[in-house]
Amino acid sequence: MKVSQCHLCASKNLTKVLDLGFHPLADFFLKESQLDEPERRYPLCVLLCQDCGHGMNSFVVPAEVRYQENDYSYDSGNSKISIQHFQEMAQEVVKRAGVKNGDLVVDIGSNIGTLLGAFKDLGAEVQGVDPSHNIAALAEKNGIPTINDFFNASSAEKILKRGKAKVITITNAFNHISPLDEFMENVISILDKEGSFIIELPYFLEIIRKKHFDVIYLEHVSYIAIKPLVPFFKKFGLSITHLEENNYMSGSIRIFVGYGQESELVAKQIALEEKFGLYDQAEWRKFAEEVKNCKINLLKELVKARESGGKIVAIGAAAKGNTLLNYCGIDATLIDFATDASPLKIGKYTPGSHLPIFSDDTIDKDVSHALILAWNIADFLKAKISPKFPHLQFITPHVIES
Ligand SMILES: [Zn+2]
Repeated sequence: MKVSQCHLCASKNLTKVLDLGFHPLADFFLKESQLDEPERRYPLCVLLCQDCGHGMNSFVVPAEVRYQENDYSYDSGNSKISIQHFQEMAQEVVKRAGVKNGDLVVDIGSNIGTLLGAFKDLGAEVQGVDPSHNIAALAEKNGIPTINDFFNASSAEKILKRGKAKVITITNAFNHISPLDEFMENVISILDKEGSFIIELPYFLEIIRKKHFDVIYLEHVSYIAIKPLVPFFKKFGLSITHLEENNYMSGSIRIFVGYGQESELVAKQIALEEKFGLYDQAEWRKFAEEVKNCKINLLKELVKARESGGKIVAIGAAAKGNTLLNYCGIDATLIDFATDASPLKIGKYTPGSHLPIFSDDTIDKDVSHALILAWNIADFLKAKISPKFPHLQFITPHVIES
């Protein structure tokens, strides 16, 4: 569906600020039998709302296609870094939101239950909701009660049978949702008056500041910054009561929303966004040029590596890696294969570029270069691979810190 109005303020005053061409779904890893079938591609452009400043994709693929047509491949417990991060998050939320033993914590888009497992260990009652069939089944196996559905009026009703939630979390999924008004009405219907609704996701300001254009993909309906959220939550009588940035996914923001007073951090954060030029079209024109340069430089580097004679692998078959591969037109001409640690991806193929995905152990001495697709865990991947293959040269797609 082509987007014609802002997901937050309904304005039709939207301007296209970035065009990355046509892409398949980034999380739609293919089975071998699917390689001979037609592959759907959709336009991938970023629009900026000229009224509230909200950033969003120009096209929304129906949620049923995104999460239920194929096995979902992202597993929130896929690395030690993720597990530690969610444990830390649970501890902080319990403290800040005053969660007591037996209070209900609901996680929306709960995946295999990594975050809820940490809340459970801290004494909370937990309830997950996840639309993906294979992922919800894994969560149940992990002992996390999970409603296998989207978070809608019907799942909210099921949750209410257990009482109101002291905390509702949504990590890396609020930016996947449309329509957001209806979603918030369901959140409010299950949130305790003293409760907190907590969003965590890659922060729009950091995505653009660090030139992480590959975080833009079809599953990300919206890109979240603070300024457009303030009037949006106000519509529902809610305000941002606390916010903090962290380094997860190389630049995330955790936002606490509730019926309390707006935090003084909100104005400070908006000032940072405006100072950077996040809502300024001139800044976006500069960014669009930088994205093109990134493509040219990466292709030059890969061609040079290819000419040196060794094999080139792409490591960490993250969804964002597929934006990079497909935007740059990188396929088996330049890369021999991709590797990943997740059993949900090994044996499959990257969407669009059709690189076969093997386990990390497949890297051998003939591999001379490794393109790091999961650059947010680059240090972890390098430490894992370098001791065995000290000659291996790593290529990172863009400057990680700037
Ligand atoms: Zn808007």
